[in-house]
Amino acid sequence: MAPKKLIIGLTGGIGSGKSEVCRRFIAKGVIVVDADIVAREVVEPGMPALDQIRTHFGDSILSAAKDNQTPPLNRAKLREIIFNNPNEKAWLEQLLHPLINQRIRTQLENALSPYCILASPLLLETQQYLLVDRILVVDTAEQLQIERASHRDANNEAQIKAIMQTQLSRQERCARANDIIQNHGEISALDEQVEKLHVLYLELASHNQSK
Ligand code: ADP
Repeated sequence: MAPKKLIIGLTGGIGSGKSEVCRRFIAKGVIVVDADIVAREVVEPGMPALDQIRTHFGDSILSAAKDNQTPPLNRAKLREIIFNNPNEKAWLEQLLHPLINQRIRTQLENALSPYCILASPLLLETQQYLLVDRILVVDTAEQLQIERASHRDANNEAQIKAIMQTQLSRQERCARANDIIQNHGEISALDEQVEKLHVLYLELASHNQSK
């Protein structure tokens, strides 16, 4: 049997610095599977889930097609519908979560680095944490999350706060972490923390142990 690969689950609230941390692991040659990207892939034109979404919500859930291509999902519209409707949210999640998890599992299995990372904003809010051996949380004070995320996105503070409401609290998230990267100060402070964890994860991977 092939040795079990070490998989680190990386999470954190919106604007906590997950993408910055991922970039630093990727620069070290670590394969990062991004759950947000996978979630988009499973509803691309041609994927069965898109047909099911279209049947359920009607053609108006699609955007206009460009150059005779299959019309893509209108993600903003879908987000708006499920934000205001828990039943529709539940319907969508029962359709997509198993597909997303299966695709994530395949990508993690195919990853060739000594250990790999599953990066997901909803690692702990969904069943995705079951796919990983160890949980790494990027932690930032809530006010900083709001400032950094609203600076990065077109979203205003109210939208960022609404997204934060759908995520675990800082305390709950940190309580479930095996490792925590503190991101309250200079961005350069991430480098040393990532380096230390990289050494630890290589060590754990070489012993083929997860905890
Ligand atoms: P996430 O992926 O968790 O939503 P990002 O990594 O995109 O968060 O970080 C949010 C924004 O804040 C980005 O524009 C990023 O460059 C910036 N940022 C992250 N950490 C810091 C920091 N320590 N100091 C200043 N800006 C930061």
